[in-house]
Amino acid sequence: MSASIDRAYWKPEAETLARPALEALQLDRLRRTVARVAESVPLYRKKFEQAKVTPDDIRSLADLRRLPFTTGADLRASYPTGMLAVPLDETLRLHTSSGTTGKPKALFFSRQDVDNAAELIARSFVATGMTRQDIFQNMMTYGLFTGALVAHYGAEKIGCLVIPAGPGNSDRQLLLMQDFHTTSIHLTPSFALYFADILEKRGIDPRKDLALKRAFVGAEPYTEETRRKIEHGLGLRVFNSYGLSEMNGPGVAFECQEQAGMHLWEDHYILEIIDPESGEPLPAGERGELVLTTLVREAMPILRYRTRDITSVVDQPCACGRTHRRIARITGRADDMLIVRGVNIYPQQIERILMGLPKLGRNYLIVLEGLDEMTVKVELSEAGFDGQLDHVVALKNEIAGLLRAEILTKPRVELVPPGTLPISEGKAKRVIDNRKL
Ligand code: AMP
Ligand code: ZN
Repeated sequence: MSASIDRAYWKPEAETLARPALEALQLDRLRRTVARVAESVPLYRKKFEQAKVTPDDIRSLADLRRLPFTTGADLRASYPTGMLAVPLDETLRLHTSSGTTGKPKALFFSRQDVDNAAELIARSFVATGMTRQDIFQNMMTYGLFTGALVAHYGAEKIGCLVIPAGPGNSDRQLLLMQDFHTTSIHLTPSFALYFADILEKRGIDPRKDLALKRAFVGAEPYTEETRRKIEHGLGLRVFNSYGLSEMNGPGVAFECQEQAGMHLWEDHYILEIIDPESGEPLPAGERGELVLTTLVREAMPILRYRTRDITSVVDQPCACGRTHRRIARITGRADDMLIVRGVNIYPQQIERILMGLPKLGRNYLIVLEGLDEMTVKVELSEAGFDGQLDHVVALKNEIAGLLRAEILTKPRVELVPPGTLPISEGKAKRVIDNRKL
């Protein structure tokens, strides 16, 4: 295999499959999946009965719409083993979702599922130009969270040297990067921004002092402005990486070298974009909730999963030659929306403004209190504060004005010194809602 690994595609036959063949493959795999869950998963047997649908009704991809949705609540209600489609002793690994409250979701992988998850990551990493010569420092959390382990095995499959650093401890991360000439890193956007601060503080110029070429950044929403800030601060290219535990974790959709939307691996998942309120499919290109169906998962197939993530399909062919359609950057989750004084606000709108201003640093926090008081706390950049109070007041007013224009309500703005807002090792907490409504 060795020489053939250093190429633009990992599995060219799968990645460039002509659309009609790809869709025929999807239909075949969908029908098998539906037949399997009808037989082995009581939840689906019940749902099919309620929806008056049988596996034989699925004759075309359009028939997908006849199938019931699966929600996060279904997964929680089936905890721990209710959605298994194979005997427990055929499973190889358990992950849980980092979900917000209550019971976690338990996600089981068979041997084949573990291997497929690694395959899709290998495919994704290679699409960004990674080869076996790359040194991969994995700065995601190892453990129940899918992020680190799935990426780890994918990079090993390519043949990279993998450094399982985990998150945090920035000085050790830096040491590893320097001593082992790390070229590729995998981390959350919030940690990437924080790490860029550390480099600046330590006087490290990543372009001269480090070998970094690319970062795989995902696990939480971030804006194009944040991507640019990370690229600038770390001296590398940032590739957007999308995934969720319910669908194997990372490697569901990934940017190629074009960096213009993420190819969603359609031989493994069927994608739909629906109106989150009505559940109806939306026309190509419109923004709505991403719904995913697994096509090859053995241990835990999931039909029409309501991801709650908001995106749209980029409905043009990609210059890289991959035929799998792309999804646009996730702009937030359907449940992320804040309603402040009657106005609908997505935290991403605020982030876009803040990360576009060079005088501001890399960390921010939205605090909601009292009846409907919103405060946006944001760090100044090292260079952004010259000690003059009138400059701070002017900057605060500028930010408040820009935010008002974007979100139609004027929040209080608090500027704080660099490095003073809390950071988290896992996913960043950007909103604290203490309202008593
Ligand atoms: P988890 O199941 O804990 O891995 O979390 C998955 C969730 O993280 C997704 O449903 C998204 O809400 C979010 N997420 C993952 N990757 C991205 C990304 N690249 N952009 C935006 N949100 C992401
Ligand atoms: Zn592409």
